[in-house]
Amino acid sequence: MKTLDDTVNLLSRLPGIGKKTASRMAFYILRSNYDFAEALAESIRQLKSVVHFCPECGSYTETDPCPICSSPLRDKSIICVVEQPQDVLTIEASQEFHGLYHVLGGLISPLDGVGPEALTLDLLQKRVQRLQVKELVIATNPTVEGDTTALYIKKLFAEYSVSVTKLATGIPFGGDLEYADRITLAHSFRGRIAL
Ligand SMILES: [Zn+2]
Repeated sequence: MKTLDDTVNLLSRLPGIGKKTASRMAFYILRSNYDFAEALAESIRQLKSVVHFCPECGSYTETDPCPICSSPLRDKSIICVVEQPQDVLTIEASQEFHGLYHVLGGLISPLDGVGPEALTLDLLQKRVQRLQVKELVIATNPTVEGDTTALYIKKLFAEYSVSVTKLATGIPFGGDLEYADRITLAHSFRGRIAL
């Protein structure tokens, strides 16, 4: 059945979803009432048309700038630098950080042909100057690419009057911020070290 196959193929492209799970989902949608299918389709459409990158920090937002960038309660003298928008949500959940964020949109990876120009570093330099930022906390994942990117940022800001720190140990090497529990992440923030 072509229509069913198309749905299964599309669903199986989602992360963590194999063909088997995808067909279970497709059959579930077939079984459920029309309102559910309509709401699901509409929420995906809305997600893509309403949620976009914050022009300031590069995180996902529905408003310009995002609620964090526009909040008077956030400490604008400290910016936490992360790889991807999801990392902002992970760190926010730890409730340990009260500054601003900057999403790089990737990591330097010479093997994959990704150089520093592919990241939002120009924007970060402008923000550091404009907001007179005193500290950049690098919270890239502890991988080769994450560490390479952290060192590059350290060098990039060597001439600036901003200190560059990184999250302390607690997140295992090769690990992922997304899977660090809140307490580990909170400790990593408190014990951050100079790069
Ligand atoms: Zn923002």
